[in-house]
Amino acid sequence: MSKIDTLCVQAGYEPKNGEPRVVPIVQSTTYAYDTASGLADLFDLKADGYFYTRLANPTVSALENKLTALDGGVCAIACASGMSATLLAILNVCNAGDNIVSANAIYGGTYNLFSITLKKYGIECRFFNPDAPQEEIEALVDEKTKVIFAETLANPTIVVLDFDKISAIAKKHKVLFMVDNTLVTPALFRPIEYGANVVLYSSSKYLDGHAVALGGVIVDGGNFDFTATNRYEEFLVPDESYHGLVYSTLGATAFGVKCRVQMMRDLGAIMSPQNAFLTNLGMETLALRMARHSENAKRVAKFLSTHEKVEWVKHPSLEGDKYYELGKKYLPDGMGGMMSFGVKGGSEKAAEFMEKLKMIKIVTHVADARSCVLHPASTTHRQLSKADLEAIGIADNLIRLSVGIESADDIIADIKNALENI
Ligand SMILES: *Cc1c(COP(=O)(O)O)cnc(C)c1O
Repeated sequence: MSKIDTLCVQAGYEPKNGEPRVVPIVQSTTYAYDTASGLADLFDLKADGYFYTRLANPTVSALENKLTALDGGVCAIACASGMSATLLAILNVCNAGDNIVSANAIYGGTYNLFSITLKKYGIECRFFNPDAPQEEIEALVDEKTKVIFAETLANPTIVVLDFDKISAIAKKHKVLFMVDNTLVTPALFRPIEYGANVVLYSSSKYLDGHAVALGGVIVDGGNFDFTATNRYEEFLVPDESYHGLVYSTLGATAFGVKCRVQMMRDLGAIMSPQNAFLTNLGMETLALRMARHSENAKRVAKFLSTHEKVEWVKHPSLEGDKYYELGKKYLPDGMGGMMSFGVKGGSEKAAEFMEKLKMIKIVTHVADARSCVLHPASTTHRQLSKADLEAIGIADNLIRLSVGIESADDIIADIKNALENI
């Protein structure tokens, strides 16, 4: 049982004799024990089990186990949102005075977290252009660098990451390589196979797939040696807040265990059982959906690229796209449903086009079953000047399109009609 389609349906939960076939929602914050010593063993990590839902819950565990299996990791931690997953993963290795080196083509919320909020806590972020030569990116790494961060497929600029280039830098300097894989999911790409050490998800997007449950997941690849250098001193010395545990002695699960027993204990951003249930249910069809999103997006991108009112289209499935070769190399099974394009006539025409759409709605969300659009220049990136927008690759006529799993014929018909009416 190792094919992705099978894991999406089956992995993470194995009922014992007479137990519910489907993952039950364990709506309980607490768990009862017969003896005080039994509970003490759990606190000492001597035994597995549940004692408080802020640290672990059976429904949440089922989802975590499914993602661990899908990504080929050693453990996973489900969080209240994608943002909290990123925050906990970063804080698990970074302290004041440290820095992270991150691609600049990343989700806007993550960009704010890295450039503004983390700075207030003394953690510096050094941004790189993911298309820059290896030496230029490598020059940003120093002895205080704890993380190299990038997205597999960047939102909303649709940059495909050159994994071999970035993972070579991380390996050479023995720095943790963290990848946000939200927009392709393990159904299409498994970053650990390409050298990533930690994989992050906003499960609010394709994993849930129906826009009903906010969440995030951290997957520990278990493939990073914290004892190889003195860079991660905190993993090598006793944790006074956890009766002297030295995390590196845990071996492959050092990152994941520290993240749960220290970060989740102190910061408390666990996913709710209800959201874990919904996300797990959505994930049963993840492989099917990602194939359909990818197929539909390819057809829509092709249609847009031939339409006279469309100035440009960015999608790595299009021959001649800047990321066509990288897309072919890393995403041969599909590229998901995200794309961006510009209509002729600038910002005004972009807004007009969106208002003429009938089935496709204007929403800030992306990556669920329903097709949707957003105009970043007038909404999410409204505060930025035209020059600022251009600097981060967002043209004022850029429309972000998240292609759903409806019939491609109907999606194209809606777009065609709107284009004809502007
Ligand atoms: C949405 C998103 C996030 C943030 O996730 P939330 O669940 O909204 O907190 C992070 N990374 C990417 C790539 C996203 O699309």
